[in-house]
Amino acid sequence: MNVPKDVDSNHTGKKMATKKPISPAPKHPEIENLLEKVTQTMGMPRSTAFSQQKCVTCKGDASKFKSALCEKEYSLSGMCQKCQDNFFE
Ligand SMILES: [Zn+2]
Repeated sequence: MNVPKDVDSNHTGKKMATKKPISPAPKHPEIENLLEKVTQTMGMPRSTAFSQQKCVTCKGDASKFKSALCEKEYSLSGMCQKCQDNFFE
């Protein structure tokens, strides 16, 4: 049997393997940490915003949402309905 083994070595000069793999999503605690840091620089730490039902972006009221989905989004991003509307527009 004649296996064309050297085909690979002929192309080592321009291998596609140099292409970067898609990096895996960061672990959740890391996101949480990062967001906490980011929101602290924005003026309202997420932890405070959530406990007071405030928006991390505009520091406005974040107790009313037009849908359960928006409410869930707040639990993720900390953005009030108004900011979500602006952000996802
Ligand atoms: Zn807001």
